[in-house]
Amino acid sequence: MSSKNMTKKQVQTFFERLREQRPTPQTELNYSSPFELLIAVMLSAQATDVSVNKATDKLYPIANTAQSILNLGVEGLKSYIKTIGLYNSKAENVIKTCQILVDQYQGNIPETRKELEALPGVGRKTANVVLNTAFGHPTMAVDTHIFRVGNRTGLAIGKNVLEVEHRLIKVIPKEFIVDAHHWLILHGRYCCIARKPKCGECIVADVCNWKDRFEFGATKPIKLKEIH
Ligand code: SF4
Repeated sequence: MSSKNMTKKQVQTFFERLREQRPTPQTELNYSSPFELLIAVMLSAQATDVSVNKATDKLYPIANTAQSILNLGVEGLKSYIKTIGLYNSKAENVIKTCQILVDQYQGNIPETRKELEALPGVGRKTANVVLNTAFGHPTMAVDTHIFRVGNRTGLAIGKNVLEVEHRLIKVIPKEFIVDAHHWLILHGRYCCIARKPKCGECIVADVCNWKDRFEFGATKPIKLKEIH
């Protein structure tokens, strides 16, 4: 999957199109406060957003603050999230995190990467999602979709997620940076999918540098000499 880097002009067009398609992109996790988002993202590791929403739709009406989840205890919390993968360790981490939030932050969510990453079960990716989605910081949480789209299209080529994250922050124009995370995830989830990308119906096919896109239906540009 080696593509060449997109030019500045390609990057600009790429995001203008994604913005036109989804002017106000949202995460597909249900949440109504930074706390609910943090817990949903913690639960979503190696699980689908749909499975997390099913659990939190029942949990949050009962408990949606650090103190109320603490009151449930580990076993009580498990009864709500046991349909989600890795629920045992996730329940332990959520309870430990809630305890810290109550003890150190009056139940609020800290707004710095350092403080977020110090919470049990919160890694760089979760911190990036919370900083970006709850607080509007220009951070980039690189998940499997963004890693694939970045490398495949030539938008942000990197051997690992950190390289792709740094490259994205560098190449994405300021006007797109806050929403870019969602546009890229949704594009990767619904169009630039892993096995059979829908290049034939892709709105950015003409600025994508993936050499195999024509085999997956992208229209070849017409050369002037072919017209005459
Ligand atoms: S043309 Fe194909 S590979 Fe390129 S962004 Fe679109 S779906 Fe992905």
